[in-house]
Amino acid sequence: MRRRLCVHIQKDYSLTQFEDLGLGDNLLKAIKTEGYDSPTPIQARTIPAMIEGRDIVGIAQTGTGKTAAFVLPILQKIDAKHVRPAQNSCKALIMAPTRELAAQIADSIRAYGQFMHVTVAVIVGGVKPKPQIRAMARGVDIIVATPGRLEDHIANDVIRIDQCTQVVLDEADQMMDLGFMPAIRRLMGKLPAARQTILLSATMPRQIRALASDFLDDPVEVRVAPQSRPIELIAQKIYLVDQGQKRRLLMKILDGQDMNRAIVFTRTKHGANKVVQVLEKEGFTAAAIHGNKSQNQRQKTLNAFRAGDLNILIATDIAARGIDIDDVSHVINFELPNVAESYVHRIGRTARAGKSGIAISLCDTTEQAYLRDIEKLISQSLTKEKVSVEGDELVFTPNAQLNPNAARPPGPKRNPRRHSRSGSRSGGRSNTPARSGQKARRKISRGRR
Ligand code: AMP
Repeated sequence: MRRRLCVHIQKDYSLTQFEDLGLGDNLLKAIKTEGYDSPTPIQARTIPAMIEGRDIVGIAQTGTGKTAAFVLPILQKIDAKHVRPAQNSCKALIMAPTRELAAQIADSIRAYGQFMHVTVAVIVGGVKPKPQIRAMARGVDIIVATPGRLEDHIANDVIRIDQCTQVVLDEADQMMDLGFMPAIRRLMGKLPAARQTILLSATMPRQIRALASDFLDDPVEVRVAPQSRPIELIAQKIYLVDQGQKRRLLMKILDGQDMNRAIVFTRTKHGANKVVQVLEKEGFTAAAIHGNKSQNQRQKTLNAFRAGDLNILIATDIAARGIDIDDVSHVINFELPNVAESYVHRIGRTARAGKSGIAISLCDTTEQAYLRDIEKLISQSLTKEKVSVEGDELVFTPNAQLNPNAARPPGPKRNPRRHSRSGSRSGGRSNTPARSGQKARRKISRGRR
């Protein structure tokens, strides 16, 4: 059974049932098997509009039930008139930014389509193209693809999308951030004019609006409050810390008794590898997922994390996007994201399925401008504490303030000159010291409430 989602159903849709949305019996049966009681707001609005044939612009992030919102109507159409797809062709195309998200969407298709006949191909990079070519030879109902590999196959004449009448661009803002926009525009140009197009995005920057207006026809706009679910259930902590102390602080947090399963975010692949190395040296078991890992490695790591064999996952934003794993007790921002929206995506990895979670952000002086952007985005001033590691001891100074003059780092690289080590510890509160030289096996005891 798939995990269930706790969302705040909007008032006007609270009485909507899946039976009211126009879905066929095979899908209703699958929904029941999945254990879903009622549609989420995005499902309640999107499903009937899609069945009517409308284009949709959906402003929603992962965790809102957006996948079922577009997958169910696509399956409905396939189930209603089952015509075999033409060779190398597909009836519906779903584009996603990452391989993991594509695999996850394909899993959802198989789950929701379990009582009907539907064929799916996952067309992503990082794996051998041959099996994908073989899978496409007879044609499939639905392709779930990342844009790069899809374009390669189209160029080699092994995939055709000129008969594809339903198209979904999932996490369009993320695809744009990854530089897929030119590829998406080229691909959209190869689709038939008579089609239904769905665009989903957590944010709506100008380029995404332009994409929607260029390729969608009078779309219905569905907006789901992006932060309401995670932010309410997540305890957000900001630790202002010297950059040189971040690693030791991270280890202390990971040693905490309330730590069950953590995702640690870094900004770069190199940074992710470095954190794994440092943690492993200290006896932790950790693994990283990022763009330089092969698809098989990434999937293996995710499976181990999901199964509970690995409880510390180090990830870059891209690799973790859209990953749906429950029971993540902690999200730790080892490095703050330089794009504020990523903060919301990152911390949304915890507090899933109605559970509460803890998000801890380690912010050094070079990252204070990023933190200000985040606070602006979420319209919330976050409580900050200055934390320093003295020997094996953590010293907390509550109610710390950001430096009002902290400037944004000039580029993706940090400016070492700005890396102040003021180390003001005045007013700090001392914890019970642990023995030095050993990994501290204790909760960060903070000596206060
Ligand atoms: P998504 O936003 O598509 O990533 O979905 C997030 C999670 O919500 C997934 O684990 C889905 O299985 C679950 N989910 C989707 N629709 C419902 C629903 N109507 N009721 C309960 N859980 C749902």
